[in-house]
Amino acid sequence: MARITDQCIERVRDAVDFVDLVSARTELRRAGPTSLEGLCPFHDERTPSFSVQPVDKLYYCFGCQASGDLFTYVQDSEGVDFREAVELLASRYGVELEFDGEDPREADRRARRARLLGLLARASTHYERQLWEGSEAADSRLYLTERGLGEEILHRFRVGYAPRAWDTIVRVARTAGFTDRELLEVGLARNEPDHNRVSDRFVGRIMFPLADARGRVLGFGARATRTDQRPKYLNSPDGELYHKGRHLYGTELARSHTGRAGQVVVCEGYTDVLALHQAGVPWTVGLMGTAMTEVQLGELSRLSRTVLLCLDADSAGEDAIVRAAQIASHRGIELRVVPLPAGSDPAALAQTGGSEAIHHALGASVPLVRFLVLRILAAGEHGSGEGRDRTLARLRPLFGTLAPSATREELAQTVAARLNLSPGLLAQLLEQHPNTAPDGGRRTGAVVALNREEETERAFLALCIALPSQATPLLAELDLSEHFTSQAMRQAARHLRERGLEAPLADAATLAGDEPLARTLAGLMVQAERAAATHARLEAQHQQLRLAATERQLRAARADGAGSIAELAHRRAAAKRAFDAAYARAVEEDG
Ligand code: ZN
Repeated sequence: MARITDQCIERVRDAVDFVDLVSARTELRRAGPTSLEGLCPFHDERTPSFSVQPVDKLYYCFGCQASGDLFTYVQDSEGVDFREAVELLASRYGVELEFDGEDPREADRRARRARLLGLLARASTHYERQLWEGSEAADSRLYLTERGLGEEILHRFRVGYAPRAWDTIVRVARTAGFTDRELLEVGLARNEPDHNRVSDRFVGRIMFPLADARGRVLGFGARATRTDQRPKYLNSPDGELYHKGRHLYGTELARSHTGRAGQVVVCEGYTDVLALHQAGVPWTVGLMGTAMTEVQLGELSRLSRTVLLCLDADSAGEDAIVRAAQIASHRGIELRVVPLPAGSDPAALAQTGGSEAIHHALGASVPLVRFLVLRILAAGEHGSGEGRDRTLARLRPLFGTLAPSATREELAQTVAARLNLSPGLLAQLLEQHPNTAPDGGRRTGAVVALNREEETERAFLALCIALPSQATPLLAELDLSEHFTSQAMRQAARHLRERGLEAPLADAATLAGDEPLARTLAGLMVQAERAAATHARLEAQHQQLRLAATERQLRAARADGAGSIAELAHRRAAAKRAFDAAYARAVEEDG
């Protein structure tokens, strides 16, 4: 893909009014001489922790640690990639884009992708026409009609029919000048060595095209039309364009509705998605026949922070759901479960109860964690101490995803009553392993609190940026692997040490290829702007970093006998004295 020139990207950066852009989603007010703040558009909160630095057009959220510049802001709030963010801002602020001369390999790749997309689009159109014009598709039309799906919605989703002949698409594609290799690459055909031929992959099936966010067809989900057909659902195979578990069905149609709805609904089946769109819930997407993956959860979070699961939760494995709940809480996503009548699915509910029944069900959604807690309680055997311990062991990771809140309290009371435990004892039992979270982060409901060490490291680097000349020697003497536990902070420290503290984002060439680092640095710059930076505070933060490192070494020595405990204890005591003294000076200076 031809690259947008760097000059152009800078022109867009200059042209955008960042405060205006952010204000469209959240109200900003002045928070300091050079910064503004408001409620975070990326997580749910009551008090503002989203900080904006309007000059460099950067942001940092003290609550969920979202950070970056105007481009990542658009990427995350509009659910687009970097290039699309630049294009979107360029058109909104009237900047004309120019492209660098492409290298020939890149041009080849782009041309090949364009051909593959063209082939898929052609196939999709052909399938769609077959559904409406082919006599052999009559049963499929009847099936869809019986599911309550009207023509309008079927057209909107470009639903089609793959005829029973073995070579429909193969012939269409060859006539249009596509090669067999291209047919195989996009998964529309397969090799049949026994017959020495390339034949259609999809035969006698109802075709649901899967498109990307821009509406380009990437692959298909195909439903059998006869009971003896296996498998019942057949998807495109993984290839250059389609990857199992990465896409959400219907994103291209749902994305413009999720913002206003403040939620995204997730269903399992294709016809469920269609049914909900038809019932007036066009902010619905589908999982493409897989259990929800982390990538899909990431895609969902781009659409909305509130995700309503309209699926048969009983069918999914509990571990997978707990894992999803943990990832969700880590990403600041709220997962809720939509209760469906037993044995029903969204399409059936829409058909029998219409739009009203669907809206009613969505309105009755409950937080995923509460849903799971109640299910675990219902399934457990609580006659014996062991039975109750087993239930507690299953509940513990779930409670780990909940912030101290009225919801958590209410759930704890329910559990205590059911297990016949005092609330105090239950609280202790649930806290027993506070660090079972997979990444070691302490979970606090909607957002992940930084652990104390990362907080210290972050505060120190922010002060370094605020006081570059005083901080340069301090930063230089630190041992990056010893003094930084967080990989993000360690990378940032290395970059700042090598490139200097004066203009952390100046090295555009390096940062263009390392978005996480660029985001971290942007966040640190906003934090630096907000920090009441004094030399004494910098010193104290520096000593705290050293103290934390000696404490880690001492802990490690006690755990596995590495190093001399006596000597490390001595060093720790010295570090503690240095920190106490520096801290006292900082407090004194603050008055
Ligand atoms: Zn936030």
